[in-house]
Amino acid sequence: MKCEICGNDATTICPRCYRYICENCLDPTTDYCIDCSSFKRAQEEDYIRFVESLRRKIEFVERSMERCFECPLLKDEIMRSMRILKELEVTAKSVGFENLYDKILSIKDRVRNIGINYLVKFKMKTLKNK
Ligand SMILES: [Zn+2]
Ligand SMILES: [Zn+2]
Repeated sequence: MKCEICGNDATTICPRCYRYICENCLDPTTDYCIDCSSFKRAQEEDYIRFVESLRRKIEFVERSMERCFECPLLKDEIMRSMRILKELEVTAKSVGFENLYDKILSIKDRVRNIGINYLVKFKMKTLKNK
């Protein structure tokens, strides 16, 4: 088989586009062909930008905890962030997005602490109201 990108002898198949590719057209860090590799990198960068915006959101939640404790949005935001991070962590692991994975780990504990903080405060409040 010939490489479908450059025409040399193909050595493998790209797991994303299923084209025959040669060693020169294979990106060893992603195991994809050079075309799919740039796509994969762009995808990871998109995810990282998304986690970055999630971090800003969660920092805002942290600051507003006292002031907006009763806001239903606050709880939703915390729970949503925890769920999204968990899903992204699975994706990052299975696809091999190492940078994304590091980024997720760097804010995961923080989000969880905010969640715990919220639950503790919530419990205290309902106890007081009894
Ligand atoms: Zn090639
Ligand atoms: Zn490909």
